[in-house]
Amino acid sequence: MSVSTVAADQSVCAPLPVLGRDVTVPLVTGGEVTYAALDYAASAPALQRVWDDVAAYAPYYGSVHRGAGYLSQLSTDLFENARRTVAEFLDCRADDQVVFTRSTTDSLNLLAAALPDGCQVFVFETEHHASLLPWRDARVTYLDAPRSHREAVETLERALADREPHGPALVCVTGASNVTGELWPVRELAAAAHAHGARIVLDAAQLAPHHPVSVADLDVDWVAFSGHKLYAPFGSGVLAGRSDWLREAEPYLAGGGASRKVSRRTDGGVDVEWHESAARHEAGSPNVIGAYSIASACTALTEAGFDTLVAREQYLIEKVRAGLAEVPEVRVLSLFGDDAPRVGVISFVVDGWNSSHFAAALSAEYGIGVRDGLFCAHPLVRTLLGSDPQTQGECGAPEAAPGEKSLNAIRVSFGAGT
Ligand code: PLP
Repeated sequence: MSVSTVAADQSVCAPLPVLGRDVTVPLVTGGEVTYAALDYAASAPALQRVWDDVAAYAPYYGSVHRGAGYLSQLSTDLFENARRTVAEFLDCRADDQVVFTRSTTDSLNLLAAALPDGCQVFVFETEHHASLLPWRDARVTYLDAPRSHREAVETLERALADREPHGPALVCVTGASNVTGELWPVRELAAAAHAHGARIVLDAAQLAPHHPVSVADLDVDWVAFSGHKLYAPFGSGVLAGRSDWLREAEPYLAGGGASRKVSRRTDGGVDVEWHESAARHEAGSPNVIGAYSIASACTALTEAGFDTLVAREQYLIEKVRAGLAEVPEVRVLSLFGDDAPRVGVISFVVDGWNSSHFAAALSAEYGIGVRDGLFCAHPLVRTLLGSDPQTQGECGAPEAAPGEKSLNAIRVSFGAGT
């Protein structure tokens, strides 16, 4: 897929300008070619607009919430405005909090650390490890991979019906799979969770870059996403949603910024009053540029219009899938089937090919950057490949011998800048 192929269809809008579009890379066969970045699901290139916004602000930044100086006030305004922009982007409820974190992984670990005592957690085995693993201190029920939206909802309902009825519970679910690109029935899962007295957190790492996410409309309690998958640079993320559990939890990090008042006690110890706002979980000097760049990306995507972006991406998805369907050796991985709604994330295996060699050849011979492996979703990829967990290695993946089943897969992923 190339930019010119896309532009050839006049009904499809142009890609949004991103950094690195003109990067050329050497080929093993000699010469060089314009790099085709098809690994957006790992990290999307930053939008040019985001980069320009950051460049305009960078010479003037100062530390937030602390200084009396003009630049410090400017940074504080940008930081707090960024919070409001993200809240609007996510269509948050009036009393929701937006906490700036380092990433989706960080956001979900923050929420895991804020769970009330005795909280039970329900998570499908198909989740990315960032959603699967942070709940170590809770009682976790891992749900089998469903094969349809309906089965997903029924599986969750059954598990929740079996739980101890009183006491807190949390469901964690992805909005779009980082392996198959398939959308999950978030609204229905949220309704099921709430009907059984549980709360739900949406892992929107792969959804937010492709579709509008409305916290209020989906009726999810929290949403987490990463800046670097939403066309902002690395290093920032968001956890947004209900404030009660976050307000009642111990601060995620202890330190300046999270504390409102610290005083020595007469017995020699220290008393601390922690903030109740998002600052409670943002100790230390925050990543103002990261927050600002996320807000800039949210604004850019909103202004471009998700209707247009979704239409464009669907066109690309159909093109890629149609191309892959023409190759008999290719098997596209899917949980929910061909008709499932999806974003621009497509994983496949090629009969007779070692996935790692295939991905390396795409890079070396064609300048196409994809990913191979188990995509930090080992249980899901093994389910999709029908492979035995006992024979598997770690991320980076062992490989099938010629003629054997593939043990890992190849993933192409793209978005608004492709
Ligand atoms: N959730 C999903 C669905 C993902 O695809 C990823 C990253 O690939 C994550 C969570 C983790 O994101 P990050 O590495 O930015 O924390």
